[in-house]
Amino acid sequence: MTATSCCSHADADLPVELHSTLTCPRCGAASLQTMPEDACLWFFTCPSCGAELRPLPGDCCVFCSYGSVPCPPIQRQRQQQAASARR
Ligand SMILES: [Zn+2]
Repeated sequence: MTATSCCSHADADLPVELHSTLTCPRCGAASLQTMPEDACLWFFTCPSCGAELRPLPGDCCVFCSYGSVPCPPIQRQRQQQAASARR
């Protein structure tokens, strides 16, 4: 394994949380899910009751609507906004 600690991830020095706890609005079951780093998950089937979750209007993915943590692209967006607001 070669360690590439610099330059390989240009904008990845912003830490993002890749695990989010999805809570089913129908049965209330919570399940810890791993999010794809650069994608949005539109559909999620509750492992407990089988309900198909979709994002709420205005949300980009089910993690933004039902997760404890929003999806990575949104996390980055917020961090960038926070960073530029600080200047
Ligand atoms: Zn459910």
